[in-house]
Amino acid sequence: MTTLEDCRALDAQDPLRALRDQFLIPEGVLYLDGNSLGVLPKAAPARIAEVVAKEWGEGLIRSWNTASWFDLPQRLGDKVARLIGAAPGEVVCTDSTSVNLYKVLFAALSQQKDSGRKLVVSERSNFPTDLYIAESLCRERGFTLKLIEAGELQGPDSVLTDEVAVLMLTHVNYRTGAMHDMKAVTAAAHAAGALTVWDLAHSAGAVPVALNESNADYAIGCGYKYLNGGPGAPAFAWVHTRHAGKFEQPLSGWWGHAAPFEFTPHYRPAPGVGRYLCGTQPVIALAGLECGLDTVLAAESFNGANGAMAALRAKSLALTDLFIALVEERCAGQGLALVTPREHARRGSQVCLSRDEGAYAIVQALIARGVIGDYRAGDSQMPDILRFGFTPLYLGFEDVWNSVEHLVQVLETGEWRRAEFNRKNAVT
Ligand SMILES: *Cc1c(COP(=O)(O)O)cnc(C)c1O
Repeated sequence: MTTLEDCRALDAQDPLRALRDQFLIPEGVLYLDGNSLGVLPKAAPARIAEVVAKEWGEGLIRSWNTASWFDLPQRLGDKVARLIGAAPGEVVCTDSTSVNLYKVLFAALSQQKDSGRKLVVSERSNFPTDLYIAESLCRERGFTLKLIEAGELQGPDSVLTDEVAVLMLTHVNYRTGAMHDMKAVTAAAHAAGALTVWDLAHSAGAVPVALNESNADYAIGCGYKYLNGGPGAPAFAWVHTRHAGKFEQPLSGWWGHAAPFEFTPHYRPAPGVGRYLCGTQPVIALAGLECGLDTVLAAESFNGANGAMAALRAKSLALTDLFIALVEERCAGQGLALVTPREHARRGSQVCLSRDEGAYAIVQALIARGVIGDYRAGDSQMPDILRFGFTPLYLGFEDVWNSVEHLVQVLETGEWRRAEFNRKNAVT
């Protein structure tokens, strides 16, 4: 049996413990939802105030040059690149994940338009916005979206036939926390003649990603989850350099032009990933995102050449292993089942539990106690889920113990049955 003392001992030995001091976390909150909205970096309020008062207020239009507003998407993109196995100049921070997905999927489909291939393959369990964007793009561009079940990619009858134009996957499933082997899946897609589009929403800042080593084609990801960029923070987009000069950007705004300030009447795309930009960038939001990125990059100092993510990954796995062990030891017989893969190579930075009854209410009862996780509704294929994200930057082992202690109490006392926990809110 694992004890509270064991957890405290793990915290005492944790080299990353000091990273927590980078954040403002409300007193009494155990935050297990960094996979939905990362916590506030301490540096962000002052930095955003400075951008508003000095760069906007005093610098005014001059700040596009004097405060380097103009190259923010590329400069922040270079920081993201360090976390996802990409090189400088390959990533831009801009727009939302949904919009970036539209852009990269359009580009991939354009590359395949003369191939005779008509299918875009994705998983039924993918995040809905990804499926909605793919659905409308397929309709507009004459492709068909084919949805497969989780696990079908690994099956003996490959879905990767010579009809597949693009394989569009989310690397870590938002609901189950299951992770794909990006390198192997990309190789299989390429062997079948398909291009790959990877959504890194639950990967960037959460698990090591090796885009170039995996030879992926296109990727996008989210700024406000594990990257702590703030609500609605700009997202990012990456394209492999072999496509960089060629791909078509459907939202051909002036910020993606090779020379926007020439004000010429015809669009001429910027040579590299810069063409992913569309219009004028949200400078204040980008300033918040940079504070978030810096909190993750701070882990680089603990792991030198291997980058921030190797150090964070080791702790993330230790936290999720501990949570799983404690739930299994202390909540046995309470009807909880582990949904997230046990195998490290297949697990993201979250743990999902299912329960036939009361998943929503249990999460609400935990939130009332300050243990913030979330709930995701099931469907005919999948049970309701209690979802707990583990961000190694600001969570410790005693936090895991305390979270499970609250879960034990909520279940053993039947507290979750109270009416107040069974009324649904608009945002779950
Ligand atoms: C969170 C998430 C998104 C969010 O998209 P927005 O455009 O930021 O709303 C998209 N895809 C996946 C897989 C996600 O997990």
